[in-house]
Amino acid sequence: MTPEPLILVTNDDGVHAPGIIALAKALRSLGEVVVVAPDREQSAVGHALTMHRPLYCDPLRDGVFGVNGTPTDCVAIAVKKVLSRKPSLVVSGINRGGNLGDDITYSGTVSAALEGTLLGIPSVAVSLDGDVHLHYSDAGKVAIRIARYVLTKGLPANTLLNVNVPNLPLPELKGFRVTRQGKRTYDGDIRVVEDPRGRPHYWQGGGRPVWSGGLETDIHAVMEGYVSVTPVRYDLTNYEVLKEVQSGLSGISLEE
Ligand code: MN
Repeated sequence: MTPEPLILVTNDDGVHAPGIIALAKALRSLGEVVVVAPDREQSAVGHALTMHRPLYCDPLRDGVFGVNGTPTDCVAIAVKKVLSRKPSLVVSGINRGGNLGDDITYSGTVSAALEGTLLGIPSVAVSLDGDVHLHYSDAGKVAIRIARYVLTKGLPANTLLNVNVPNLPLPELKGFRVTRQGKRTYDGDIRVVEDPRGRPHYWQGGGRPVWSGGLETDIHAVMEGYVSVTPVRYDLTNYEVLKEVQSGLSGISLEE
């Protein structure tokens, strides 16, 4: 008998967040689930790795650990030290809020899946695109479908799936749509405020997002009520311009 699949679950909203609790509960229908997640909110930390202070991995409950680090720390420590065997799947989420377009470069949720991918494990990020009254258990059911697919079929090398679920009850979701990453700019992104001593300071993250990029994008799919699934690769090379940059540099000498 083959052992049941081992699934590592993490997130960036912290180990106590409702999204990770719903995700772990859902995925237990597919195998053994171990949760290794930050002990507090770590949203927008990107792919940060903690290298200059000690990390602790505290057992909180059976199969649930809290780490005083980033989502990337959690995946690295779990895979290399905590888990008894290599997991078949890493699932990160369910994030409170979408991870769409350019935002994924800042996302701790997506970066955790990226770390799993770098370690050679099929990995998925799941985010729920809404602010209030979030349908986590419905998104958990979507995560089961995706996880079952990845456990059965695997993923292409160097590729993670970035999944964004509209905040709707399951029967109102229109289905899956495979998408590409959209574009986003922020309107009035940084606010300047004076502190009580008159010193100006800056608040980021409060701007209104302005989306673009067309009908095939992640954001457009979610706006239309589809579950967006974007295959994301981490090779950032722009292959289309290799020759152009090469010819541009060919006439430039390093000598004075
Ligand atoms: Mn988050």
